[in-house]
Order: sequence, then structure tokens, then C-alpha cells
Amino acid sequence: MKYISTRNAARSVTGSEAILMGISPEGGLFVPESFPQVSLDEIASMGEMTYAERSAYVMAKYLDEFTYEELLEIANRAYSRFDDEDTCPLTKVDEGFYVLELWHGPTYAFKDFALTVLPQLVSACRKKRGEDAKTLVLVATSGDTGKAALEGFKDVEGTEIMVFYPDEGVSYMQKLQMITTGGDNTYVAGIKGNFDDAQTAVKGIFTDDAVREELKKAGYVMSSANSINWGRLLPQIAYYFSAYSDLVSCGEIDLGDKINFVVPTGNFGDILAGYYAMRMGLPVNKLLCASNINNVLTDFFASGEYDATREFHKTISPSMDILISSNLERLLFELCDRDDQKLTSLMSALKSEGKYSVDLTELKKKLGVFEAGFADEDETMETIYNTFDEYGYIVDPHTSVAIAVYNDYFMSTGDETPSVILSTASPYKFAQDVYEAVGESQISDPFKAVSKLHFLTGMEVPEGIDRLEIMEVRFTDVLSKDEIKQKVLSRVKGE
Ligand SMILES: *Cc1c(COP(=O)(O)O)cnc(C)c1O
Repeated sequence: MKYISTRNAARSVTGSEAILMGISPEGGLFVPESFPQVSLDEIASMGEMTYAERSAYVMAKYLDEFTYEELLEIANRAYSRFDDEDTCPLTKVDEGFYVLELWHGPTYAFKDFALTVLPQLVSACRKKRGEDAKTLVLVATSGDTGKAALEGFKDVEGTEIMVFYPDEGVSYMQKLQMITTGGDNTYVAGIKGNFDDAQTAVKGIFTDDAVREELKKAGYVMSSANSINWGRLLPQIAYYFSAYSDLVSCGEIDLGDKINFVVPTGNFGDILAGYYAMRMGLPVNKLLCASNINNVLTDFFASGEYDATREFHKTISPSMDILISSNLERLLFELCDRDDQKLTSLMSALKSEGKYSVDLTELKKKLGVFEAGFADEDETMETIYNTFDEYGYIVDPHTSVAIAVYNDYFMSTGDETPSVILSTASPYKFAQDVYEAVGESQISDPFKAVSKLHFLTGMEVPEGIDRLEIMEVRFTDVLSKDEIKQKVLSRVKGE
């Protein structure tokens, strides 16, 4: 299987090259040359597999430089770090309404599904390619990727990792998780600006030839742990198959029935993995793209105009506070029949004018699987309350956005297709807001909010959250956007 760039389809690389490079030098994203197929029989057979086996099975379809056994070893190591034996348990909340809990990994957000795997893939790809240069991993984070990547790459030989987060745009717990990370190969800094500023700066470094040269001299190549990296996206495809096969196994649906997935969306990585699963043969009725009030994607699916020139809102679902959703580029590439010239011009319009548009009537047929909606801050808080009040089930604000959007969709369409909500973070990562939603009072001390929430819900507090209170803060830098590049260069030169 080869990979091509969305902005230069003639650039064809292997899976290991795509993973080590992270992004194509002209700024395009790597996509598989074709979508390998998974039959209904294969999906049925997943019922007997462990999650790690399901994951290795799906990854093996794409990474033919690896054997299934090699991938299974990687997946076993990754998912043995999760605190639930089902890895991603599927909870039936109500008739036809299921929640897929994707936050049982080491940092309590769904990012762990990919970031416990990616560092191992990077090491294995380096070995396969006989790569001597060290890999410098640059990460822009809206909160959860940063910690998950730090935990994944911490003390992995031959790698350095630098993480940049919006200084005032992440939750207290998210920030503490990052700045207390150990490891000799780790670096974390806040950025004066929002996530888009951090992501744009990091993408700029990737496409800067002069930086590339300097890094090469210092013995480094760059890679990315953001969902622009194929190695980040790939492990996320498996849980769509896993949820489906679980529904079949427990008799909730018949093999071949179509289902809906509802995905709280920011950078469009998670939902794109669902789209890829569908292209591989998973029976999907609708993919619901749920946004908070940074609803640039909702507008795009309604009008065909992607317009990032709008006010940026800080919300209680900070990991979705994104106006430039990188992975939409991969979807557009498919919708535009893989026209790399078209993509190049759309993306350059986005860069220079902050917007572009496509003709939706042309794309309607292919886009039909997508529905989009958003929830404002009040609805998000109310939905946390209502979900707990009605079902005794507690969710974090990102998951709540998805449930709110699903409720709106259900009310307006009456679509009774079984629907799986992707739950992307532990409520304890956002304890203050969650407690305020269900406990009717504001608590200024985040750790007090954790214990109150525990007292109210009886839900176990993750050890890594409890421990944060006594961990030493290691990183205090706050940089302007223009300082990031210099920081990267001085880091690799050991200054
Ligand atoms: C990253 C994240 C999202 C958004 O996922 P994308 O792949 O960026 O669309 C949603 N919820 C949480 C908790 C996240 O960490």
C-alpha cells in the first residue's frame, strides 16, 4: 500500500515514510492510495477478538511493511496500558443510544488510542528504514493530544518531543498534566494565542526548508504527532469496527445493519477515521459531526463555504476550540475525486484569505453520510445535567456536545437508527465544569471539584488525576508565536 499527498498525488511514499515524515513537504497530507476492504464476515469474526487483535487486524490492512504479528505486539503493548479490560467499553444508555467510552487510556482522552501506538510505530519504522537521524516530534495541542503524545514518546529512544499549547485555552487539569510530565526528551511550552495559532506555527516549521536543513545538520528529522500524521489516524479506525462488532455480538443489531456514529469534532481526525471505516465497508448510516460554538464545520456542511474568519470562542469543551480543521483536507480530497490541483488551490485560499467554498450540489451524493450540528455552552451544561439526571450517566463537556447534537438530530429527523456516541474524555479532566453542571455550584479549587464529583457520582477517580496535585511543575515557558521556531532550533542544537 502506497500513500499519496493531497496536494501532489504524484508524490507516492510507503506507510513508514508517511509516518516518519508526518506531513508532505509541500504541505499536503498523506492518504492511502486506496481503501482496503473489510467484509461482513471479517467484521463478524472480530466479535471473538480482543481489542488489540481488532486494532492489529485493521492496521495490517494498511501497513504491509509490517506483519500482523508485529502489529499485534505493538497493539498489545499499547492497550495493556488501558484501565478497562474492554479497552473501549460500549454502554447502552437507552434504547438505540450507546456510548463508546474512549477514555480509559493513560491520559484519559481518546487521543490515547493513537498515541500509545504511534511512538512504537515511529520506532519500528525507523528500524525498518535504517534511519540514524533522531526523530523530533512537534505537537500543537488543544489540550489532550499534548499529554497523550508526551506520555507516548517520553523516554522513547531516538526521539525528542516538543509540545505547544494555547496558554489560556486548555483546562486546568489538561495543563497540569502536561507541565508535570517527566522524561529527558520532553519539552512543553504555552503559546500566547489560540490552538490555530499554535498549529499554524508548527505546520509552518514543517514546510520551512531552512529549518529542515538546520535540523538535518544537527542529526534530526521532524515528524508530527498531530492527526495530520497518518500514524495518528490509522489506530483510530479500529474502534469504529470494534463498536459495530460489539453491537452485533450482543444482539443489539444484525450483521449488515447500518448504524449512526456521533462524533465531537475539532480537527476532524476522529470523525475522518469513521469515514475511512465506512469506505472500508463498515455499514454506516450517518456520521454526525458535532461542534461547539466554534461551528465552522456546521456551516461548511450546510453551505459549502468554509470560513475561518470569525470570532474564536473559548469554551468548556476546549479540545474542540478549533477553526482550522486540518483533516477536512483529507475528506475534501475524496469529495473532489482526488484532484490534487483543486486541493492545492482551496488550501492556499484558506491560508491567504481564511476561507474557501465548494459547490455542495456537486458533492451532495458523496456528502450524504454526513450530518452536522452544534451545541452552545448552555446546551452543553444542560445536557451534562440531563444525561446524569435521566440515566445516571456522567459525561464530560465534549461528549455532552455530541449528545446535545444527537438529541437535536433525533428530534428533527425521528431517525431511530441505533446510534453510537463517541465519548472522548473522562469527566474528571473537566471536573469543575462537570460538577457545576450537575452539582449546582461553582467550585474554584479543581481538586475539590474532583472529590465532590466523586462523592456525587461514585465514579472512580483516575489515579493520574489524583496524583497531579502533588506532582512537580517542570515547564513554565510561555512563548510568542514567533519564538517557537527559535526554540525548536536551539533545542536540537542542545543550547
Ligand atoms: C481532540 C478531542 C476532540 C476532537 O477530536 P478531533 O479528532 O480533533 O476532531 C474531541 N474531544 C476531546 C476530549 C478531544 O481531546
